[in-house]
Amino acid sequence: MSDEFLPFSRPTISQNAIDDVVACLKSGWITTGPRVTQFTEDLKTYFKAPYVLPIASATAGLHLALLAMNLEPGDEVITTPLTFAATLNTIVLAGGKPVLVDIDPRTLNMDMNALEDAINDNTRVIMPVHFAGLPVDLDPLYELANRHGLRVIEDAAHAIASEYKGKRLGSFGDTQVFSFHPNKNMTTGEGGCVVTRDQELADQIARLRFHGMDRQAWNRFAKSGSQDYEIVMPGFKYNMMDIQAAIGIHQLRELDGFIARRIELAERYQEALSDWPQWTLPSKPDYDHYHSWHLYTPLINEDVANMNRDQFMSEMKENNIGTGLHYRAVHLYPYYRQAFDFNPGDFPHAEDACERIVSLPLFPLMTDADHDRVLDVMYKIFN
Ligand SMILES: *Cc1c(COP(=O)(O)O)cnc(C)c1O
Repeated sequence: MSDEFLPFSRPTISQNAIDDVVACLKSGWITTGPRVTQFTEDLKTYFKAPYVLPIASATAGLHLALLAMNLEPGDEVITTPLTFAATLNTIVLAGGKPVLVDIDPRTLNMDMNALEDAINDNTRVIMPVHFAGLPVDLDPLYELANRHGLRVIEDAAHAIASEYKGKRLGSFGDTQVFSFHPNKNMTTGEGGCVVTRDQELADQIARLRFHGMDRQAWNRFAKSGSQDYEIVMPGFKYNMMDIQAAIGIHQLRELDGFIARRIELAERYQEALSDWPQWTLPSKPDYDHYHSWHLYTPLINEDVANMNRDQFMSEMKENNIGTGLHYRAVHLYPYYRQAFDFNPGDFPHAEDACERIVSLPLFPLMTDADHDRVLDVMYKIFN
């Protein structure tokens, strides 16, 4: 049994990916180029989607997808309090007002029964988060969105490879944003992609992603000269580099294997911990789904465990095991309390989960021996 520090997450980078990064570096073309073009095509095939836009990060993708919605002052975007700050930050940066719907305490996803009450005349977009890789119940969500004429941007940062009722996330619906951060199901270092079936939205994001450049516009507006693009709006610098795509092309090919191991490890936790009174374990919703297990997040039962989540995390760390906290309730951060008047008690299910949640180590390279070590240390801490 090794006593080396076991992180809660760690990327799997194959020799093929490393070789391709080196080939890219030696090729003379390291920023956006042929490898991003290939990665784009590979992702289109993977998602069976007409428009896929690799981008610098999922945060950048959420930002641009929201900006492309042309929100006006007072426009509202509905999301969940149990998410990473980027979900809410990008709503605010795009000029929207974040409106939150509490979670279903069993799935930790937005409570579909509470969603309709949050919709009003100012609502423009619903932004569900597929927490830990468990798909949100999308049928009722899209039914409501269609009935009220709302756009949907799925924050699918956790959820590449997840499926809802037999369909891969990204292969249907409005717009999805995936993350390729090193902790996520697959990585490009930093990176992400936007997937959509809306050509206008895709064109707008493509322009905003790179300085507001439009290469087609040149044909229409340029009289002569060597310039082969026009600036049609002020844009950002959110493009993905070929160095990143060189990693991503191989990660995508290896993704099924990564997910298979994630599922094995998650199921191993479910079985091993099923009769531990210290934990409330993740539970499955009754709709058909395929869970990619980006995170394994039980909730600690403080009374039985005789310690709170933070104490548990520091005990694990003292025993050389890393854990993660996903997440503190975003509405209780100072900015959100001040700017939008959120208060403790506003979203009781999310707040309870955020106090008790912990991400146990889970990544494809984790061995059964690593897994046993996590369980042994947890047993020792509680007894
Ligand atoms: C990681 C994450 C993001 C941001 O992804 P980046 O690629 O790091 O920008 C957004 N939303 C959620 C729910 C995430 O977990």
